[in-house]
Amino acid sequence: MPAPAHCPLCGAPLRATRVSAPDRLVTGEGPFRVWECRACELGHVSVEELDRYYGGAYFESFYEHELAPDAGVLVRLRSAYRARAARRRFSRAPFAPVGPPGRVLDVGCGGGALLAHYRALGWQPFGIEVSEAAAAAARAQGATVHLGTLADQPWEPANFDLVVFSHSLEHIPEPLTALRGACELLAPGGTLVILAPNWRCWQRFVLRSFWFPLDLPRHVNHFSPRALAVAARRLGLETQAIGTSSTIIAVSYSLHYLIARRWTPGWRLWLAYALGLALYPPVLALDRLLGGDACYAILRRAVNTL
Ligand SMILES: [Zn+2]
Repeated sequence: MPAPAHCPLCGAPLRATRVSAPDRLVTGEGPFRVWECRACELGHVSVEELDRYYGGAYFESFYEHELAPDAGVLVRLRSAYRARAARRRFSRAPFAPVGPPGRVLDVGCGGGALLAHYRALGWQPFGIEVSEAAAAAARAQGATVHLGTLADQPWEPANFDLVVFSHSLEHIPEPLTALRGACELLAPGGTLVILAPNWRCWQRFVLRSFWFPLDLPRHVNHFSPRALAVAARRLGLETQAIGTSSTIIAVSYSLHYLIARRWTPGWRLWLAYALGLALYPPVLALDRLLGGDACYAILRRAVNTL
């Protein structure tokens, strides 16, 4: 892999870290090394032909399909648990509280779960998605979805009251370009929400290359509260909140990688779910003390931008 030259967020020089991991989810290739910005501590991976690392397994794994009629008890329990966990996640920062209903754009909307949540609250839901299967699932939930990227999106400037990157910005090689594009779509007074894995989370230092949110090489940029604060300054947005949050899935999937070394559906995945549930209370306690596995920013575009 070529050594990356400069930080894609602030332009400062990068240094090599000791963090490297193979692609445990799709191809098994690697390892890929993470570089880190000396100034804003953004983690960065230099990857050629990034599309190669998104196989069917990637999108199959990360949005909920309709349950098959013959789904077993465990699969039904998992589905119910996921739906409950999503409701809890969406009812907290950075997704709530939000202002009065308007037009919301979810960049990288996946199967549309977050958009369905906003729609139920009276928002008009719009999405951008590169996966055709995920876009179709989001449309089935009532969202208007552009199949493509921010670079070829069809909407006029200042069209949205809320723009969300929920676990999507870390996939984009030029994050500043994407964020500037999102800001153009934001109406004056509108809100930009970013949620991404927390590169500085204690879990990464313990679980090392098995820490699931690394997801190399698809996660080309690795954010932290500090990097998000730098992004806010570079975008000229007002910071309403920057913080961290926790997801049980980071624990369960990391344990799965520790047990199976790579994504292996079957009993080793179910064992990891059970261990993750058992370990979640102490993990959550440490997250509250040291910071969770995801970091977020709630940023606002000034009303007067003359
Ligand atoms: Zn930087």
